[in-house]
Amino acid sequence: MFCEAPLAEDPKQALVLYKGKKAYIILNKYPYNTAHTMVVPYRHVSSILLLDKDELFEMSLMVKAVVKAITEVYKPHGFNIGINMGESAGAGIAEHIHIHVVPRWCGDTNYTLIIGGVKVLPETLDQTYEKLKPAVEKACKEICGENE
Ligand SMILES: [Zn+2]
Repeated sequence: MFCEAPLAEDPKQALVLYKGKKAYIILNKYPYNTAHTMVVPYRHVSSILLLDKDELFEMSLMVKAVVKAITEVYKPHGFNIGINMGESAGAGIAEHIHIHVVPRWCGDTNYTLIIGGVKVLPETLDQTYEKLKPAVEKACKEICGENE
């Protein structure tokens, strides 16, 4: 899935927000919270130990750019940023590593309704994509630019 997404003809359909040299940025189809985003290397590797310096460098810059973009658009109170490495650690797609960037608001676990095990978010993925894409592009140009 993470190998195919950046190749999609329609990036919006694939929820791809930005494509860099070694990695790309995508919205999570099953978000824990509004604007839950992921930074993913193009290479199909399962461990951080298999990422090279260039990949790690660009991915770090992308995390910074995503935090900047989400902050501008959504003004969250905080972020959870991290990698679930391996199935035992809760990785949904364990074979292709990815960094989660999840914005948090005070009390968001209370105000997000859970109906039938599905979280009901205050906006659709389409709306999030449209709002976030220009901000992510701008932040990446600013922050990751020198790496392209
Ligand atoms: Zn893959």
